[in-house]
Amino acid sequence: MLGSIPWSPFPVVKPLPLVAHVLDSFRTCNDFELKNLMLDLHELNKFDKAGFDRNEIKWNGQMATALHSCGSQLGPCPCGCRLHAFTEERLTKGGLQGLLVRLAGFAKCGHILYPSYRHVHPDELALLNGMLPGYEWENPKMALCALGQLASPLQSVWLGLPAFVPYTLAAGKPCAWGSLYSETAKYSENVANTVANTCLAVFLSL
Ligand SMILES: [Zn+2]
Repeated sequence: MLGSIPWSPFPVVKPLPLVAHVLDSFRTCNDFELKNLMLDLHELNKFDKAGFDRNEIKWNGQMATALHSCGSQLGPCPCGCRLHAFTEERLTKGGLQGLLVRLAGFAKCGHILYPSYRHVHPDELALLNGMLPGYEWENPKMALCALGQLASPLQSVWLGLPAFVPYTLAAGKPCAWGSLYSETAKYSENVANTVANTCLAVFLSL
């Protein structure tokens, strides 16, 4: 029914978009969010050994790929798929893959002073994965499990559009991109522009 579909590679945006292009700032978390997302002393100790720097989200860089376990490698998975922390063997082989945001202040453990960190907030991770933020998650850390393994909507749209657009145009239906842009702009103009540029690249390639 659809005929042959002209698949093409996802466009490479140049210059590469940075975290700073998508987020206006890292979020100021409320007490509930901080309690859920702040690293405890055990996590701080492990990330200190692994290197905070290589696990921190760089404001002027690109975020590492989010994983289902990005907020829970050192404890049970909130979704229930894993009852224990990653084994030392697995951590030694694969390393820690955190998405950390620096907080003001330090945490003291005996005579050791660690810089305070939290895990990425679900709204930040949603935006950086190309998804609208603002969903009211009951458990922020569990939200990271879902957001850490989704297919980015931008890439899903990229795959779906070549099939969807000819169909909607043939059916005389309006394109939904205008409303998508205005909805996205409510959260961040930067993200709205990124979405718009990606959509434009999609249309130009059709
Ligand atoms: Zn899980």
